[in-house]
Amino acid sequence: MRATFRAARRTWLARAGANALALLVGGCASSARSRARRSVVVVGGGYGGATAARYLALWGGASVQVTLIEADARFVSCPLSNLVLGGSKSIDDITRDYDGLARHGVRVVNDRATAIDHDRHEVRLSRGDAVAYEHVVVSPGIDFLFERIGGLRSADARERVLHAYKAGPQTVALRKQIEAMPDGGVFAISIPRAPYRCPPAPYERACQVAWYFRLAKPRSKVLVLDANEEVQSKKALFERAWREDYPGMVEYRPDCVLTDVDSATLTARFEVAEDVRADVLNVIPPHGAAAIARSAGLVTANDQWCEVDFLTFESVRAPGIHVLGDAIQIAPLMPKSGHMANQHGKVAASAILAQLFDLPLDRSQVISNTCYSFITDREAVHVASVHAYDPMQKTFVTVPGSGGLSAAKSELEGRYGFAWAQSIWNDMLS
Ligand SMILES: Cc1cc2nc3c(=O)[nH]c(=O)nc-3n(C[C@H](O)[C@H](O)[C@H](O)COP(=O)(O)OP(=O)(O)OC[C@H]3O[C@@H](n4cnc5c(N)ncnc54)[C@H](O)[C@@H]3O)c2cc1C
Repeated sequence: MRATFRAARRTWLARAGANALALLVGGCASSARSRARRSVVVVGGGYGGATAARYLALWGGASVQVTLIEADARFVSCPLSNLVLGGSKSIDDITRDYDGLARHGVRVVNDRATAIDHDRHEVRLSRGDAVAYEHVVVSPGIDFLFERIGGLRSADARERVLHAYKAGPQTVALRKQIEAMPDGGVFAISIPRAPYRCPPAPYERACQVAWYFRLAKPRSKVLVLDANEEVQSKKALFERAWREDYPGMVEYRPDCVLTDVDSATLTARFEVAEDVRADVLNVIPPHGAAAIARSAGLVTANDQWCEVDFLTFESVRAPGIHVLGDAIQIAPLMPKSGHMANQHGKVAASAILAQLFDLPLDRSQVISNTCYSFITDREAVHVASVHAYDPMQKTFVTVPGSGGLSAAKSELEGRYGFAWAQSIWNDMLS
């Protein structure tokens, strides 16, 4: 965090300390302390929400009660989940628990938020209780717009044609389909139009499946069916990997806008391109902010994403409701990534504490993104960018000359990639 925030935090900590002391002197320390605690609720314990919860607790200390509402009992990482599909990692390798957050005083509630009541300042839960908030952070990730793809409206079809684009049971199920595929078969992956979650992830997936095929089913093929006109991230690096590491195995087809799926025959149909029949059909449907953001009225852009004030990450619709991560309408050239969601979490945590304790907002936030993609089980490439808040444009803009891209894949970058995952999981959850 920048110097302004450090100075503001020192003032705030001093003030909070003075208040706590005054309450203690007034007697009945514990009840007075709990009365003085401010309440922040976080919905969604993924990359954005877990980070926000942890930093609200770390920076807010005893003055803030942070409640994290997460539907799943354990955190499963999307980053590295393509390696589970390739078979070099297991689902356990990318799963963590929420105990670390509890140790910081975060109250972790394993339940699904069903509604956010703006008037009563309450988040309602599926088991029936409600949690009151002064500020609420909403970082629920994405939900898929299955209704936009004919043939994927039924639950049965969606069990045969998997997305595996939220890490968890679908990752394991898709791995099983890939393992069961005959040698000489076709694995086809359909990519939606940008913007979508993690631009390089589908191309990394093509590499990981090809890596497995090279070892176990060398006559098989990976078809990349992209709704976009070209590879959306690390283009030259992925094209080189397909040419040099997996020659004749990976075929890339642009402008494949999916319209319909026949789940019985595993056939994909497109606006213009010819039909494709696969042995394993992996469709990443178009997606948008997850259901809770929609039901809370926070989706304001393109019927998909939530616009925010980038100074505080508050919804443009609802002050006091901060939306993070993949659910937001991104700033220019800002990727939808776990690293970015982690950065959103810290900016939002600092803004919420400033708002709660009457401190100046930091208008000079600088955040960054690094994204590693694994070409083989141990070799990776990366792309990085730096984004600064511009008070004139009221958004984040990329810092000229910042960031970078790998020259070529390497094992060293692979080691950095695994270290990146461990350190960001620690930064969110430890
Ligand atoms: C295959 C793949 C590979 C990727 N690789 C990378 C990578 O290498 N680097 C990178 O930076 N990013 C990567 N990403 C992107 C990254 O996973 C996302 O950008 C990131 O997870 C977004 O964080 P989030 O907090 O918005 O959502 P998530 O991390 O998805 O968290 C949302 C959480 O909210 C919970 N939730 C949703 N609704 C409710 C509700 N109503 N009540 C309670 N809980 C709820 C969910 O259970 C979930 O835990 C990858 C993504 C995929 C799919």
